Amino acid sequence: MHHFSFHDSELYCESVPLARIAEREGTPLYVYSRATLERHFTVFDNAFAAVRHLTCYSVKANSNLAILRLFGRLGSGVDVVSGGEILRALAAGIAPEKIVYSGVGKTRPEIELALARGILMFNVESAQELELINRVASEKGARARIALRVNPDVDPRTHPYISTGLKKNKFGVSIDEALDVYARAAAMDWIEVAGIDCHIGSQITTVSPFVDALGRIKDFVKRLRGRGIALRFVDLGGGLGITYDREEPPEPDQYAAAVISELADLDCTLILEPGRCLVGNAGCLVARVLYTKQTALKEFVIVDAAMNDLIRPSLYEAHHALVPVRQHDGPVIRADIVGPICETGDFLARDREITRPAQGDLLAAMSAGAYGFSMSSNYNSRLRAAEVLVDGSHWHVIRRRETFEDLVRCETIPACLG
Ligand SMILES: *Cc1c(COP(=O)(O)O)cnc(C)c1O
Repeated sequence: MHHFSFHDSELYCESVPLARIAEREGTPLYVYSRATLERHFTVFDNAFAAVRHLTCYSVKANSNLAILRLFGRLGSGVDVVSGGEILRALAAGIAPEKIVYSGVGKTRPEIELALARGILMFNVESAQELELINRVASEKGARARIALRVNPDVDPRTHPYISTGLKKNKFGVSIDEALDVYARAAAMDWIEVAGIDCHIGSQITTVSPFVDALGRIKDFVKRLRGRGIALRFVDLGGGLGITYDREEPPEPDQYAAAVISELADLDCTLILEPGRCLVGNAGCLVARVLYTKQTALKEFVIVDAAMNDLIRPSLYEAHHALVPVRQHDGPVIRADIVGPICETGDFLARDREITRPAQGDLLAAMSAGAYGFSMSSNYNSRLRAAEVLVDGSHWHVIRRRETFEDLVRCETIPACLG
């Protein structure tokens, strides 16, 4: 369910025609719907109402401060994966005791920051990281709450680049190893063993991998109890998929029911880290057609958004529906929709059937709210897109378009170069 729909052949976000926003704010442009974001959070969070839980929105899916504030106001915590994301979350008003911190490569300054701000817990991904956290905590005189990220070795059946819970992946420690690491953690003076964590992958479209992972975690938590180590939190990570094309992912209610039933008698607070399913379908990327051209082999539609704006098609061969912002008649063609970047891998879609657009037409890449802007870059010295949040019949610019000054702000020409 989202609030992008056609009225009289015009694509609207809530009560505003996308063409009007694009006219005013330029393209490429990310447009998010506040009503959709709020609905997605509320439906997800309510689905777990029957159990003690904390929903921690995964910041990396879309880290704009306004989006973080919006979720924070609805009671969300956050899952962060860097010091930068901790600072973003705090700047958006998220309480430190609602921040969980994951990531395989936490640096000492990042650990110091997290401890100084008093986050809820570190999701620890290796024995060496645990040692460093203990050392930093002793220096600061502040105990660190930790969960160990275990790798349950279940196949989430998603794209290999976004599978994270298989034995061969870099994340977490295997369940076999985990017992030993927990024993060491429990013996450390400055570590409070608080929970267990896993995150098996992203864009998962069936409940069974989640249930399998939780089952393995549950058995393990019981084994730990047998050894006198009691946990307060079970963090199941994120990963619930969305519909980009024809996928039929479980509804939050179905996902929650399966998880809650598997959790059963385990007396722990459940932590969830949804990213994509909260923001993905709440945003689109609006681009303008610059040129069309026909080569001997193919037809190309060249738009002003590129892989630096939305890398998912290039990186994962991901599908985004491409919708004309004004529906029009015309022949349906099969074309590659490409950006201006000097890479053959720069495309939004390949061999896509589309009503032949004219120069100057607007196209919307749908379902671009997650891993869209947050993965964008300045490659080819392109200015990053603006982001707007639509709220009923109004919109707010929540990130202005970059300027040339932004682009070179951190660079200097040394004096020796004259
Ligand atoms: C990316 C990530 C998430 C969110 O994943 P989605 O598929 O966007 O729900 C949650 N937890 C961790 C540790 C992550 O790295």
